[in-house]
Amino acid sequence: MFKTKAYAAQSATSALAPFEITRRTPVADDIQIEILYCGVCHSDLHTARNEWKNTQYPSVPGHEIVGRIVAIGDKVKNFKIGDLAGVGCMVDSCGHCHPCDEGEEQYCESGFTGTYNGPVFGGENTHGGYAQSIVVKESFVLHITHDKKDLASVAPLLCAGITTYSPLRHWGVGPGKKVGIVGLGGLGHMAVKIAHAMGAHVVLFTTSASKVEDGKKLGADEVCISSDLEQMAAYANQLDFILNTVAAPHDLDAYLQLLKLDGTMTLVGAPSDPHPSPNVFNLIFKRRQLAGSLIGGIRETQEMLDFCAKHNIVSDIEIMPMAYINEAYERMLKSDVKYRFVIDMASLN
Ligand code: NAP
Ligand code: ZN
Repeated sequence: MFKTKAYAAQSATSALAPFEITRRTPVADDIQIEILYCGVCHSDLHTARNEWKNTQYPSVPGHEIVGRIVAIGDKVKNFKIGDLAGVGCMVDSCGHCHPCDEGEEQYCESGFTGTYNGPVFGGENTHGGYAQSIVVKESFVLHITHDKKDLASVAPLLCAGITTYSPLRHWGVGPGKKVGIVGLGGLGHMAVKIAHAMGAHVVLFTTSASKVEDGKKLGADEVCISSDLEQMAAYANQLDFILNTVAAPHDLDAYLQLLKLDGTMTLVGAPSDPHPSPNVFNLIFKRRQLAGSLIGGIRETQEMLDFCAKHNIVSDIEIMPMAYINEAYERMLKSDVKYRFVIDMASLN
């Protein structure tokens, strides 16, 4: 066992503050990573503040991790000391249920082990990437194929990238499809870039008039201010698929009405309070579907990283020291970040 510096929330109402955690010494198929950068996901905030009512304290969030391998167990096959590596939202799963066999560990029937606050069905707490190092078994470690100079901007791909790539792939987004992305935050800006690279016609829906120009630069063909009812009405029955990334309860009907016959809206945003129920008539009259999606499996996460490297896709980031985290959370709540905070972990030294 060894000690590592970290930042933790001690309760739902306390600010994050310095904390020391213990990691296991790497054995067998374990990989020890010196964390260089960690993205700040809205799920970190939901967890630190116990908004999903399942947080175990002390809580060390962070699941958009990139770093360098500093030690490996003797059974590690595909990584070596000195390699760059990534860790996303999961560090373990049962490995033998149907979803695990299919490479969809996020849907493990026993519940995957979250990088922090895992296992999801209870058990000894795990601590995430707001720390100087982490030890993870090889099968949950990703290869980073981007240029080294982009490393900080690659970190958010480990959650925001895969959480948007996976449903965009699953629901067949590509050339000839008109796709709506709702919310231009950490997830939303990755979704715009990825859907554009997949060849779809992308319509961004945002509540922030200040993001219209950015939306177009990021890859949106059209931008709609969602509070403007006239602009919204122009998209009625137009879209094949909508990916909704909004982190707060809102009126889903406003978007369901924009789907074509047989269109699907998939929710990835996970607000702590429920959305007002959708009006069933918005579903049944056009055989529309309302769906959800959780991150993505490890194999698909590697596929996403390779896809993004090939298409020169990284996150647009604001880099910050660890000690800035509480202000970063407040700014994230105000949608005041373009478009992902990333912690420079050297600031913890
Ligand atoms: P974020 O950076 O805060 O972005 C959320 C965006 O939603 C905001 O930038 C804003 O975009 C829009 N928004 C916020 N409040 C709104 C409101 N009241 N009404 C309408 N729009 C609003 O958050 P994130 O990191 O992208 O995460 C988004 C959500 O996804 C969170 O709930 C997070 O926990 C969840 N998540 C889910 C998964 C999964 O596997 N399903 C994985 C990761 C994260 P505009 O300014 O453009 O309107
Ligand atoms: Zn996340």
